[in-house]
Amino acid sequence: MVENRVVQGRMVTPKKLAEIVEGESVMEADSIEEADRDCPDCGGDVLKVGYMPSVTAFITGYKCQDCDWREREE
Ligand SMILES: [Zn+2]
Repeated sequence: MVENRVVQGRMVTPKKLAEIVEGESVMEADSIEEADRDCPDCGGDVLKVGYMPSVTAFITGYKCQDCDWREREE
């Protein structure tokens, strides 16, 4: 299983990817998956990661592999 993925030319762990989406540190992150969608900005591949920014919250984060586009879904 591939844990780390390349995002904008950098290798990131699930936790690091979650932190890029959240904009600050997170407690825990699930593994990175391919999201079944394209980036609305550049049409690039979008990755998906579920994570917990705090004990009471679970967020699904989306991040484009090629540009700055990201989205969080509560
Ligand atoms: Zn993009």
